This record gives sequence, structure tokens and C-alpha cells, in this order.
Amino acid sequence: MVRPILTFENPVLREKAKKVARVDASIQRLLDDLTETMLEAPGAGLAANQIGVALRVCVVKGDDKQIWGLVNPEIVKKDGAQVGYEGCLSYPGWVGEVERAETVVIKGRNRHGKEIRVKSSGFTARAFQHELDHLDGVLFTDKLTSLDTLRRVEELVGEEREEAVAAASG
Ligand code: ZN
Repeated sequence: MVRPILTFENPVLREKAKKVARVDASIQRLLDDLTETMLEAPGAGLAANQIGVALRVCVVKGDDKQIWGLVNPEIVKKDGAQVGYEGCLSYPGWVGEVERAETVVIKGRNRHGKEIRVKSSGFTARAFQHELDHLDGVLFTDKLTSLDTLRRVEELVGEEREEAVAAASG
């Protein structure tokens, strides 16, 4: 089911989401709702608190269109750095420059409760880091390289705009 996406003023976006004790049918439904909502938006990822559920659950759409649904995700390894524009479905219409690790390895449980590790880089790694921040109540606007880089998407032109529109939005 597509759920409404909450915007940055909502206090649930500043909460540290709670760990999931057991991956049951309600968590599988939550993963389905997150996936449908992300695809409809459209976005590159979505965290459960963005739809008002303060649990450590998120989805990310990889470069190859594969969709990762993760429960209790955590970063176990990060390498390198990338600087680029990033947006957020809870901050519609705005982008800003954020530095992220270039490569991350995420450990979490899948929809069957099985522990998995996902290695990603570039755009997908940026989306994972953005979603994991959401689960800690952190928004991309907390991490801008400079406040001057916070821009309205429609103010940007040409290549800059293309980059911004393609930016991780989740
Ligand atoms: Zn976001």
C-alpha cells in the first residue's frame, strides 16, 4: 500500500528508530509498503520513519534496479569519499551537497529474518547512508558541506540540474 510520506517538520523524523525484535508478517507488510511508496514517489530509498513507523527498517533501490529491504541495517565497513548533490522525499524540491563514503558494506536482516550483507558503491552507497541516517533521526540538511549548497531544484540549470535530479532521493 502506498503510504503518505511525512515531511521534515514531523517529529518522528527526528526520532531514533527502534530495533525490530522479530521479522514477522507485520514487518513484511511494512517492507512492501515502503517499496510501493518509494517506487511511486519515485525515490531511490525510503526509511520507515518517513511513513511514520519508528522502526529500523528501510528499502533502497540499487543502480541495477534491485530493491533491498533491510531490517536493523548497520554499516559494518566504509571506504573512500564522494561529494555530490542529494535530495530527500521528506524535503521535496530541495537538494544540497553532502559528502558520503564511496563504498559501504551494510549488514541487516532480509524479509525472511535471514542475516545478509550488501556491498555497494557510488549512488547506491549514497542512498544506503541517507536511509540509515533517517533511522537515527538525521536529515541530509544536517550534513551539508555548506549551507550555501542548499538549493531549490528549479533554480538549477543544465548539467547541475541533471545531477541534482538524479541525486539520491529517499
Ligand atoms: Zn530522505
